[in-house]
Amino acid sequence: MIGMKTDRFIVPEFGEVDLKDHPTDYTGDYDEKEDSLDDLAKNVEKMGELQNILYAQNVHALLVVIQAMDAAGKDSLIAHVMTGVNPQGCQVTSFKQPSLEELDHHYLWRCDKALPGKGMIGIFNRSHYEEVLVVRVHPQYLAGQRLPTSPDTEKDFWNKRCQQIRDWEDMLTANGTHVIKFFLHVSKDEQKKRFLDRIDEPDKNWKFSAGDAKERAYWDKYMAAYSEAMELTSSDASPWYIIPADKKWFTRLAVSEIIVKKLESLNLKYPKVDEKAKADLDEAKKILESEA
Ligand code: ATP
Ligand code: MG
Repeated sequence: MIGMKTDRFIVPEFGEVDLKDHPTDYTGDYDEKEDSLDDLAKNVEKMGELQNILYAQNVHALLVVIQAMDAAGKDSLIAHVMTGVNPQGCQVTSFKQPSLEELDHHYLWRCDKALPGKGMIGIFNRSHYEEVLVVRVHPQYLAGQRLPTSPDTEKDFWNKRCQQIRDWEDMLTANGTHVIKFFLHVSKDEQKKRFLDRIDEPDKNWKFSAGDAKERAYWDKYMAAYSEAMELTSSDASPWYIIPADKKWFTRLAVSEIIVKKLESLNLKYPKVDEKAKADLDEAKKILESEA
């Protein structure tokens, strides 16, 4: 942990969210990328050490949810921040449009199946929150369910879904899977620049699909859906963090700091061996030492 103040990014439990109040280009005490690299390296190393203890202790799991508009930097964030973690102790799941099998089940089913086991860090690249974001913006994705027709009951429907998500996360926390959630907050202008890059640079063409540009027309609807979802599902135990994302290097630093802080708060300890196990170790040592 490098001591960066991260409280300003938290969405307080039952707090209101107006994304216009959250700058997308904030970089705190850092002026440019070069200033941030040593601190990022420190956090990455620390995260590796803590994950090792998480794994050895085998009591807790950490679920890191990453949500954002297209081109906000989810993939590269994951690549940079998780580099210090043993690949055996970390699993990344990317949630795309649901398969037919997934659509045949309730909307949390596929996320439940992808949860990290004890000792593991799980990263959700998109997540169950798509169910109150893209699905809210495009209700035709509501498989097999029909939205109530009047605006009030429609709002109730989404509120109820958020409550279900909140309850699910509460259940996870109570059972040792701790959840933290990041919204990478990129500006509409910066997204346009990144899309143009993806079109102009042949090696980035694969990252762009024509649908991405069309989806920008729904920007305000997405922002409204994000704000409401975060208001209803940020809790003391499983908070949302709104992370400025116009400067990718700052996003990485802030997220790494918050993950390290979260792991430290779990008070992780290597397991202590009991008397019997200690006697077994002494016995094994004798055998090894008596070898010719
Ligand atoms: P990139 O930033 O590289 O584009 P991505 O996460 O956008 O990565 P894509 O394969 O481009 O990956 O897109 C996945 C799409 O699947 C997103 O548009 C997302 O909104 C959509 N999606 C995810 N979950 C659901 C869902 N439950 N219902 C409908 N669409 C979903
Ligand atoms: Mg995409």
